[in-house]
Amino acid sequence: MTQLFNDPAAFADEALEGFVAAHRRWVRPVPGGVVRAAARVPGQVAVVVGGGSGHYPAFSGLVGQGLAHGAAVGNVFASPSARQVRQVAKAAEAGGGVLLTFGNYAGDVLHFGQAADQLRAEGVDVRVLPVTDDVSSASPEEAHKRRGVAGDLAVFKVAGAAAERGLPLDEVTRLAELANARTRSFGVALSGCTLPGADEPLFTVDPGRLALGLGIHGEPGMGERDVPSADETAELLVGTLLAELPPGVDGTAGQRAAVILNGLGAVKYEELFVVYRRVAELLGEAGVEIVDPEVGELVTSFDMAGVSLTLCWLTDELEPLWTAPADAPAYRKGSVAAPAAATPADDEPAAAAEQDALPAADDDSRRAARRVLAALAAVRATVDEHVDELGRIDAVAGDGDHGIGMRRGSHAAHEAAADAVARGAGAATTLDLAAAAWADRAGGTSGALWGVILGSIGSALGDTGRPTPEAVASGVAGAAAGVQRLGKAEVGDKTMVDALVPFADALGEAVATGAPLATAWDTAASAAEAAAAATAELLPRMGRARPHAEKSLGTPDAGAHSLALITRAVQRTLADKEVD
Ligand code: ADP
Ligand code: MG
Repeated sequence: MTQLFNDPAAFADEALEGFVAAHRRWVRPVPGGVVRAAARVPGQVAVVVGGGSGHYPAFSGLVGQGLAHGAAVGNVFASPSARQVRQVAKAAEAGGGVLLTFGNYAGDVLHFGQAADQLRAEGVDVRVLPVTDDVSSASPEEAHKRRGVAGDLAVFKVAGAAAERGLPLDEVTRLAELANARTRSFGVALSGCTLPGADEPLFTVDPGRLALGLGIHGEPGMGERDVPSADETAELLVGTLLAELPPGVDGTAGQRAAVILNGLGAVKYEELFVVYRRVAELLGEAGVEIVDPEVGELVTSFDMAGVSLTLCWLTDELEPLWTAPADAPAYRKGSVAAPAAATPADDEPAAAAEQDALPAADDDSRRAARRVLAALAAVRATVDEHVDELGRIDAVAGDGDHGIGMRRGSHAAHEAAADAVARGAGAATTLDLAAAAWADRAGGTSGALWGVILGSIGSALGDTGRPTPEAVASGVAGAAAGVQRLGKAEVGDKTMVDALVPFADALGEAVATGAPLATAWDTAASAAEAAAAATAELLPRMGRARPHAEKSLGTPDAGAHSLALITRAVQRTLADKEVD
């Protein structure tokens, strides 16, 4: 149980504030996360890592010389937004380009990918590397779909050391990719974790049982067995990893490997050492030479009682990068030369304020913006009402954060829209600012996709004139296309697309018959509701729920369900003559 907190919604921000206060020698805060306190080294590649909060020392604790240059820090178990990643990358960037590397989760892939596009458009050379070490999350044939867990550290360490040597971006990326291709992890859990403020754990493991193949967000395990002894646990971990040697590793005898035995949060260091004692024996028996092992908490999951083993099969190139000195708040090795102090120039990109003059709007569009605001208030209210239900549905096969993510997003969008309306914005600008706020604050896959939805509808409405039903329908059609373009899900994959596409189609058809917007939207909302309910019979093929596909049969998709709830809430505001 995570017990010490103030407002649970402020937990991640407050933890980051305290972390920075305690580690000023290493890091300084920038919008979106932290970067090294030291001066940037001109021409050096910047290694920017990141992910959700709740995994300390990942990710902020790994920022320092020889390791990461910056970390984008998301909310509890939620990816940082594209904007956060971009802000941290700009503050870390020193002219040598940027490597964005993070655990392979749908939300992180989306947000880091969007940030990479934006940075490239601004002329920054960027490479993107999702870490895929967790063998229990996909088969070897689909190794690129695997999640990233404690193997993050091996990849970040190699990338950071390569950057420190002054290697160019292509080389740093090649070496980090090589490390990722040769890193494998496997974990087990004795209990789930409880997020700050939650009444119940995200998942539970029956007493006396051990869950195999846990994910660091508490995604349910792949199987169970009786709790083994520490030695048997070591045998399970080592046996699993030796059974799947990465391509290029022929047999174990004579191999050299970096070894990480990672505690997930509630396993004592002494317990880890008892397990490690046997891990070292077993690897020795297999003829594996252990290089600079790490035993401790490297990637955690709040108070989850679990342990994972990571092997990074070294090469002559990788070994010196793994053993190179590093000095970060939560990871120190050897001794590094004292870095130069930061200069005011290091603060420039972080301090550069974003431009915020509003485009001109006419009265008709301002009136439409007020309706948009009323609709967003209804969205916020319906999300608040269903927040626990959405979390529960997402927890069946995903990570349980859909409710809190939607709440953060819808509140941020409503606040941004209220501010925009107060400043006289038109409908397009109001929706555009609401979209950016939603994507920035919500995190998760759905946060980025809701940003696309609001933004697409906004651009169809414009800032002048009274929006026609045709314009709204074409905005919604654009939203459906945009979500599919960004998320790459198709109808039938068990995602929000399954509700959004029928909604857009029904709206388009009803508007084409000449129906008024309120009537057409009503028909379309019914289509969305029916389609969302029908997702209960589908198997997920995208997103976090995919590794636990069969568990979700009988439960609708969380994102499709929330979308249906939202379309209905908006319909009520369209029917409401009071709003003008
Ligand atoms: P996360 O999956 O990052 O935890 P949320 O829990 O907020 O994000 O949202 C989960 C929902 O997002 C899923 O129920 C699904 O509807 C939607 N989703 C996930 N991946 C995709 C995708 N690639 N395309 C469209 N929708 C997706
Ligand atoms: Mg989720």
